[in-house]
Amino acid sequence: MPLCRRILIVEDEADLADIIAFNLQRAGHTPLQASDGAAGLRLAQHERPDLVILDLMLPGIDGLEIARRLRAEPTTASIPIVMLTAKADERDQLTGLAVGADDYVTKPFSIPVLLARVEAVLRRAEGDGSGVAVAARGPVRIDLDTHEVRVGSDPVRLTTTEFKLLAALVRADGRVLTRPELISRAIGPGIRVTDRAIDVHLAAVRKKLGEHGSLIKTVRGVGYKMTADREPV
Ligand code: CA
Repeated sequence: MPLCRRILIVEDEADLADIIAFNLQRAGHTPLQASDGAAGLRLAQHERPDLVILDLMLPGIDGLEIARRLRAEPTTASIPIVMLTAKADERDQLTGLAVGADDYVTKPFSIPVLLARVEAVLRRAEGDGSGVAVAARGPVRIDLDTHEVRVGSDPVRLTTTEFKLLAALVRADGRVLTRPELISRAIGPGIRVTDRAIDVHLAAVRKKLGEHGSLIKTVRGVGYKMTADREPV
């Protein structure tokens, strides 16, 4: 099963946006929706989703301008974009790719085609399975293919659930994840796990990371985040 990803849909056709959201959810992802350009840009900047499905023709700020602005900001520059183009006009598609879209789908499209493109772009963005899918936060490096974890050069042995929780925090890039988000990313959507279980798993991860365990911060009343440096609390 593909990993759960947060995918922002910026699309002003409500019916289409809902169908896409429904199908992403069914595929195990967490959809976020925006129906105009300004809201889409705001959500992309605040939520930093794992991928944006971006309609080209939008009220307010259009898709090309959103793509340009996302690419221009360091915090959003690497978010993959799949663009939806209304016209089968090659110029639109080429412009989309030129401003940094990773792929495009021409309307009307079938949902399976869109989902296949989304999964392909996610796979590409996260490494192609050749062992280069490495993410790091400070001295903590994780390999998403082999599930290896290292602190500096020292290997750390984690259980699968511990690894997935740590991977979710590393990949959140400093953003706070709520316990439900952590459950959804590490254990799977729709599975009943108590918040307390997450606390217990993360306590174990902290312990195994040794002196770098304090990089994982509890954010009271919200969840957890991971900092890159051992900053004073
Ligand atoms: Ca549109």
